[in-house]
Amino acid sequence: MIKINNKKDCCGCTACVQRCPKQCIALIEDTEGFLYPKANLQLCINCSLCERVCPIINPLPPRLPMSCYAGINLDEHIRLESSSGGLFTVFAEHIIKEGGVVFGAQFDENWEVRHNYTETLEGLSAFRGSKYTQSRVGDNYSKAEAFLKTGRKVLFSGTPCQIAGLKRYLKKEYENLFTVDFICHGVPSPKIWRAYLKEICRKTIERSGKISLSSISIGRGSVSYIKDVNFRYKITGWKNYSFSLKLDYGMTQGEKKIERFVEPFSENIFMQGFLKNLYLRPSCYNCPAKKGKSRSDITLADFWGIQELYPELDDDRGTSALFLNTYNALVVFDSIKNDKFVCRKVLYNEIVNSNKNYESSCKEPLYRSIFFKKYKKNELLDSLLFEQTLKDRITLKFKRHFKL
Ligand SMILES: Cc1cc2nc3c(=O)[nH]c(=O)nc-3n(C[C@H](O)[C@H](O)[C@H](O)COP(=O)(O)OP(=O)(O)OC[C@H]3O[C@@H](n4cnc5c(N)ncnc54)[C@H](O)[C@@H]3O)c2cc1C
Ligand code: SF4
Ligand code: SF4
Ligand code: SF4
Repeated sequence: MIKINNKKDCCGCTACVQRCPKQCIALIEDTEGFLYPKANLQLCINCSLCERVCPIINPLPPRLPMSCYAGINLDEHIRLESSSGGLFTVFAEHIIKEGGVVFGAQFDENWEVRHNYTETLEGLSAFRGSKYTQSRVGDNYSKAEAFLKTGRKVLFSGTPCQIAGLKRYLKKEYENLFTVDFICHGVPSPKIWRAYLKEICRKTIERSGKISLSSISIGRGSVSYIKDVNFRYKITGWKNYSFSLKLDYGMTQGEKKIERFVEPFSENIFMQGFLKNLYLRPSCYNCPAKKGKSRSDITLADFWGIQELYPELDDDRGTSALFLNTYNALVVFDSIKNDKFVCRKVLYNEIVNSNKNYESSCKEPLYRSIFFKKYKKNELLDSLLFEQTLKDRITLKFKRHFKL
């Protein structure tokens, strides 16, 4: 029976929950906002299936990609909606056109992130763009399995650990399955994301002075003011992307009062906390799925540094790095290349030299636990500002000590 003694030993993929024949594993949110499985001892029959499908208990060895590319989707609209060069959509469209189903991560009505599936080209737009918080997989492994068993093609996209979990869950290889992951920095806490969204909306609305704060609700319902969230808004460029929020203060039906909050990632406090690894899931500091261990068919990433290597493939609107990891990936790639995207072959090191997250996990900051303690007592933004000043204080002490 699955038992989590150390939080680093669970990436939250939910393979155990979905495989349990007694359905006796519940997911419980911890104080940091991450979900962990908890088995009901009364119902458990000790079949150990949950342990056998766990990608952390049963890790695979690392594996190198078969070929590496830089690429750009030729559809400008799609590329602007995507985080890097828009190659995810190229593969997803191919599967849909072959009568298949695509699984990915999208916002729900409360702007939390969940996995879902679509059978249409239009449905792909909800999956486009990185959402920087952990997506809830729900029962989507079992839904994907049901489609696979009918013989339909399935593209499943997600973090490397979600792909590793899916592979373990399925227990066998399916020729009609195509898996897509990405180089993964780690996933921020959904609780911190929720808190940030609430605070940034309140502060933006407060500044505008247009409506009463008592009527604020975060959601897409009739009293919702949030119309769009974009972690990778490219209006300020791909390299210097922004966090953006679209609000509509229209109070009566048909009335529209649109306002956009746009902040470069280097100034946005949620993005800074994420990039400084402050509130990642504990497993992300000891990631079980780096270096091809997920066994995905393809791995996507931002091709940071492309401007120095191949400037002809950089217009600051996004360039993807692509690893083809399997024979299946080579076949699919050959059947669609040059039609939907431009690309060129590159060396493995040209991608990973500027993207260390493919091979190594982020370091856990010393002040992570202080941050979570502080956050329990304060508003999120205050806690983040405290973290900044704390870090500045530590740096200053360090510099003074070593007379730098
Ligand atoms: C949490 C996170 C961390 C990342 N870290 C890095 C990194 O360190 N280095 C790097 O180069 N790239 C990283 N990426 C990936 C990168 O930002 C792009 O998503 C990737 O290059 C694909 O871009 P695209 O333009 O092809 O398509 P996009 O349209 O941008 O691709 C979207 C894809 O990402 C999936 N997705 C989006 N959000 C989530 C989520 N929360 N959980 C699971 N799947 C999700 C969608 O299902 C879809 O498959 C990260 C992405 C996420 C979500
Ligand atoms: S041992 Fe079997 S019954 Fe018990 S929790 Fe695990 S999968 Fe469920
Ligand atoms: S890593 Fe996945 S399978 Fe393993 S315990 Fe956590 S949720 Fe269950
Ligand atoms: S860093 Fe590793 S453990 Fe964390 S979400 Fe990404 S793949 Fe999963």
